[in-house]
Amino acid sequence: MNWISDWALPKIQGLFRREVPENLWHKCSSCEQMVFHKDLERNLHVCPHCGFHNRIGAEARIDITLDEGWQKIELPKAPADPLRFRDQRKYGDRLREAQLKTGMDDAIMVAHGAIEGRAAVVAAFEFSFQGGSMGAGVGEGLVAAARLAVLQDAPLIVFPASGGARMQEGAVSLMQMPRSVIATRMVKEAGLPVIIVLLDPTTGGVTASFAMLGDIQIAEPGALIGFAGARVIEQTVREKLPEGFQRAEYLLEHGILDMVVHRQEMKPTLARLLSLLREPQILAEPAPLALASPNA
Ligand SMILES: [Zn+2]
Repeated sequence: MNWISDWALPKIQGLFRREVPENLWHKCSSCEQMVFHKDLERNLHVCPHCGFHNRIGAEARIDITLDEGWQKIELPKAPADPLRFRDQRKYGDRLREAQLKTGMDDAIMVAHGAIEGRAAVVAAFEFSFQGGSMGAGVGEGLVAAARLAVLQDAPLIVFPASGGARMQEGAVSLMQMPRSVIATRMVKEAGLPVIIVLLDPTTGGVTASFAMLGDIQIAEPGALIGFAGARVIEQTVREKLPEGFQRAEYLLEHGILDMVVHRQEMKPTLARLLSLLREPQILAEPAPLALASPNA
């Protein structure tokens, strides 16, 4: 051990090593144009050509929403595989695989911090963890986020991205629907705002529970939001569905959403909303009551 092996050698080796990342270019799944991965990252994973919003993970979402220094909270452990469910494979195995892939215990991450200096608790779904499905673990996460919001006297902002209830947990996953509704109610009863930002996709039991109960309902452009899938609806009603059905813009036009906000504008928009909802607004200068001083 000396300075040559510890310091000089790695430096020299570093000079000669050429590390070429595998995916330098990303092909946009909407406009099919090629985007340099650094440009895509800089643009918060929104295609600079057509504005297509690529999905991002829970941690990245929290990171672009909260100011630097945010903290993730430890979530209570939920019973894993309560029904010992098995389809082609054991649910327990699927769960472990998803945990390894994402480095998360379940499909939700909760953090607290500030949005442009205003305190907030944020819960974000991880769609790549079993399709962001809501089982007991996600339910626990939402309840913990709500409790934290009340404790910290902070608004709750939830970013759902989910295929719905987690079918491998059967009735236990359905119970998370009323549980998550109660979670939003706790926050509202404390006089704190609940803001829901619907991401692509938000469907099934998640849409049918807390995800439609925000004081303000926002969505990202192009997000698919619905309960049942379009094909199932078409087959049931035997009619062709209108263009853009179940997309954020369509829902905004039909009064289901309050706003559709570009990812670049999301943080300043949330900050503005928090300021409007949480800080007393001075609407007009109060007129002076008396001009004379008391000693006159
Ligand atoms: Zn594109």
